Amino acid sequence: MLTDEELARATKARGFMPPDEGLALVEAASLVDVALGPMLEVGTYCGKSACYLGPVARRLGTVLFTVDHHRGSEENQVGWEWHEPDLVDSGVGKMDTLPFFRRTVHDAGLEDVVIAVVGESATVAHHWATPLSFLFIDGGHGVEPARRDYAGWTPKVASGGLLAIHDVFPDPADGGRPPYEDIYLPALNSGLFAEISATGSLRVLRRT
Ligand code: SAH
Ligand code: MG
Repeated sequence: MLTDEELARATKARGFMPPDEGLALVEAASLVDVALGPMLEVGTYCGKSACYLGPVARRLGTVLFTVDHHRGSEENQVGWEWHEPDLVDSGVGKMDTLPFFRRTVHDAGLEDVVIAVVGESATVAHHWATPLSFLFIDGGHGVEPARRDYAGWTPKVASGGLLAIHDVFPDPADGGRPPYEDIYLPALNSGLFAEISATGSLRVLRRT
């Protein structure tokens, strides 16, 4: 669990994760056996979910790696629904959330436990060999990025480790399909994962 101060900071951090899902993430992460390996999230953005997970990692004696190219997902680009204009690096003409993440993690005092890995998720996954005690997938929500995250990252979850997935919407009226159709369902249908909790659009599965 988080202290009042940690919770206030996570709640106020910039990003789209609602408090009930943040707390469910904390609750799930608190269950992990860190002897299995470190924790990792795909999709850093400005560090909000890292503010929920980082303090848990510290108390458990492990670290959280957080993977992002920091150029934003499709829906974060100019003209799309979830665009935030001040996140554009005007010199480059592209989004850059890395400075915002750095400031958030600095101010939260989490620089020693939240470790940024800057790059394309599939490329990092391809070269990543360390088994994970906890994997949180909250990266690209298009079909292709979701399929690549499923294929690239879920095999890294150690047996007994947890897989959390954000933005899972079984009802199409509530949101986009890929996290549900291309990550959540394949994980369950693989027979390798069993659901342990559902809170809002967050699903937590355990690798059997
Ligand atoms: N977990 C964050 C939100 C992540 S938003 C929070 O709670 O605040 C999704 C992030 O995934 C964006 O920052 C985007 O840049 C990143 N992303 C999308 N596709 C990616 C890819 N193929 N490789 C790396 N990062 C990607
Ligand atoms: Mg999300």
